Amino acid sequence: MAGNRDTTVKSTLEETLLSAIRTIPDYPKPGILFRDITTMLGDARAFRRAVDELVHPWAGSKIDKIAGIEARGFILGGAIAHQMSAGFVPIRKKGKLPHETVRVAYSLEYGLDEMEMHKDAIAPGQRVILVDDLIATGGTAEAAVKLLTQMGAQIEAACFVIDLPDLGGRAKLEALGVSVRTLVSFDGH
Ligand code: AMP
Repeated sequence: MAGNRDTTVKSTLEETLLSAIRTIPDYPKPGILFRDITTMLGDARAFRRAVDELVHPWAGSKIDKIAGIEARGFILGGAIAHQMSAGFVPIRKKGKLPHETVRVAYSLEYGLDEMEMHKDAIAPGQRVILVDDLIATGGTAEAAVKLLTQMGAQIEAACFVIDLPDLGGRAKLEALGVSVRTLVSFDGH
């Protein structure tokens, strides 16, 4: 069920995005409500508004790099980087990047995974915005923040189209001192 629908009068942006995001029950496994942004990406107006609004607070500021988390963070992050005249940095699953990398391990629901970034992708002190489609427990974004911090990035914010606040990811990033921007939220998981 879409969160926030029963609270106040909706902004046009929220309505546009909530109606453009598709929910697939029991994917990829029973009990998960998968928030599918491919429908939002396919909707020209919704896609543009999501990109514009995500980084609206930084319009006019100098951002050096947009770091996108594989894979949906690449689509949003590439568009945002273009919009902001910033460079784009991919944060990928281990083994996918061809040059020297820095790597961090993070927990998934079952076991561990690792993500990587090229060692020379960000210079110390560069101003970076992290982007992904959705924040749930915040484990993935927290690992990306660790990588960026290790490289000396100045993280201006982490931006997500969707927040699942009940899972605590936003609070986790904020506790690390990272500003979080999200556009819509859904109750539950
Ligand atoms: P987490 O590390 O728990 O914050 O999970 C965030 C990552 O998992 C993001 O890259 C999301 O794309 C993906 N993800 C987690 N939960 C969902 C969901 N309910 N629907 C779609 N993607 C999800």
